[in-house]
Amino acid sequence: MPEYIDTHAHLYLPEFDADRESIVETAVYRGVKRILLPNIDSTTIGPLHKLADRFPGICYPMMGLHPTSVKDNFTKELERVEKELSSGGFYAVGEIGLDLYWDKTRLKEQNIAFGAQLDMALKYNLPVAIHARESFEEILDVLNEYKNKGLQGVFHAFTGTVEIAQDVVSRGFSIGIGGIITYKNSTLPDVIRETDLSHIILETDSPFLTPVPFRGKRNESSYIPYIAEAIGKIKDITLEEVARVTTANASKLFQLDSYA
Ligand SMILES: [Zn+2]
Repeated sequence: MPEYIDTHAHLYLPEFDADRESIVETAVYRGVKRILLPNIDSTTIGPLHKLADRFPGICYPMMGLHPTSVKDNFTKELERVEKELSSGGFYAVGEIGLDLYWDKTRLKEQNIAFGAQLDMALKYNLPVAIHARESFEEILDVLNEYKNKGLQGVFHAFTGTVEIAQDVVSRGFSIGIGGIITYKNSTLPDVIRETDLSHIILETDSPFLTPVPFRGKRNESSYIPYIAEAIGKIKDITLEEVARVTTANASKLFQLDSYA
């Protein structure tokens, strides 16, 4: 059976309180053997640790402050992120970035938080999981300051154009593809066609961005094969090939094998 990695799932959120264990077990049963958990803010750190501790070798935690959680107290939040990172056990700094969809008025604070966490990624030698919403230009501007510093990572839930995808890839970053690829009006098929599979990793962003045929319901990690199938169709390659290459990509980016 093909083996997958869900590189982005918030399975520690309350949406999964009733059936969290069976959600993880079903994912593993369907071939989604490893799941990366991006953090949101200080309120999610407890549940994040609990889930990662419950499923060692399956659930891998990230640590970071999400751009939509950048509020008045963000310096305190960043201190907590740094404290967590310094104690080790994390596989990426995430999710971090800029979100100009929900709140443009916080751009200055979001920029400070983003830069501070990119510095943490370099300090702790970790890749980053980047959240970009209506902010590709701004994010690429920030990343220009980090060129040739060895920063690696993924643009999660990628929604940019072919040109942006090429820019992202040329910087050594990966492209995270999830349920959006299955939506009717998605422009992602062009991006997939023009991007070598070696730069693509799979993700669900559970409980959000549920793929067709479950769109509108809660997303879960076991739906990863639907995303792989969509990519296989566009690139005219087998599901096995998509699984093999994207799993190797993710495992390398997040150094899942060397830490275990
Ligand atoms: Zn997310």
